[in-house]
Amino acid sequence: MGKKRVLVGYGIDVDAVANWINTTDGRSQNPTNVSRGIYGATVGIDRLLKLWEKYNIKATWFTPAHTLESFPRQIAKIRDAGHEIGLHGYTHEYVSRLSVTQQLDVLTRSIDTLTIFTGQKPLGFTAPAWSTSPELIPMLEDFGIVYDHSFMHHDVQPYWAPTGNNWTETDYAQDARSWMAPMTALRPSNVVEIPANWHLDDWPPLQPNMGTPGSHGFVDPHLVERLWLEQFDYAYREYETFIFPMSIHPQVSGKPHVILMHERIIEYINKHEGIEWMTFGEMAKEFKEGALQGAKVET
Ligand SMILES: [Zn+2]
Repeated sequence: MGKKRVLVGYGIDVDAVANWINTTDGRSQNPTNVSRGIYGATVGIDRLLKLWEKYNIKATWFTPAHTLESFPRQIAKIRDAGHEIGLHGYTHEYVSRLSVTQQLDVLTRSIDTLTIFTGQKPLGFTAPAWSTSPELIPMLEDFGIVYDHSFMHHDVQPYWAPTGNNWTETDYAQDARSWMAPMTALRPSNVVEIPANWHLDDWPPLQPNMGTPGSHGFVDPHLVERLWLEQFDYAYREYETFIFPMSIHPQVSGKPHVILMHERIIEYINKHEGIEWMTFGEMAKEFKEGALQGAKVET
């Protein structure tokens, strides 16, 4: 039996106004929704910074360049408190809906904006709404980005993100023989995956977004806490080493009832042996340098 090592961290999507004005077709957004984004960028960020300070946690703040350029004083507080700042598009664009040229333009602009602001090139990326493209991982590789946090091949282990559009989709208008083919072999990239997980995300259960599928918003935080901690309990029982990346948003987790939930979650996790709170960038580094075995994703 080796020594138990549990790398725990929060990834915070500082979507602010960007996710609301990413309407994809230029139609106008309800200003009340925009005000929820402003709440996140101001009240939400301040409350979360206070929470991390209380528990001595360094977190990863995935920040759209639009948020950085619109709320530079708020993002400076994050930077100056020693947290990691990662990539999250310019206006929270859905990568799956962009052309290759648009993907390149958004990535180039957001890398430049974050690099100038922090003085160092960002280590990691998370796709807005975890909506990705076949080009994403090769593109991150080309830009020298160390890790991604958008895919779900595992939930509690890091791995090398595989590349390629390696499956055949059905098209019922065609002959059945046209789609009956297995997946091609997965090819690992040089990009570390710190996996994403909808069951460790505050948005769907706790952010009401009227009329939008996949959004609920009125779940009792005690229930969400149980859902998250049961995943932690299982991983703690089954793995000698594992990672536990949680994904939250200042406009959701900055609400009083959700802050109290995070306090309970952090205090529960801290009762265990072998807990190390860290940024996603530090988790990726541990895996890259071989200090953490992680998982192999293969067919
Ligand atoms: Zn986001």
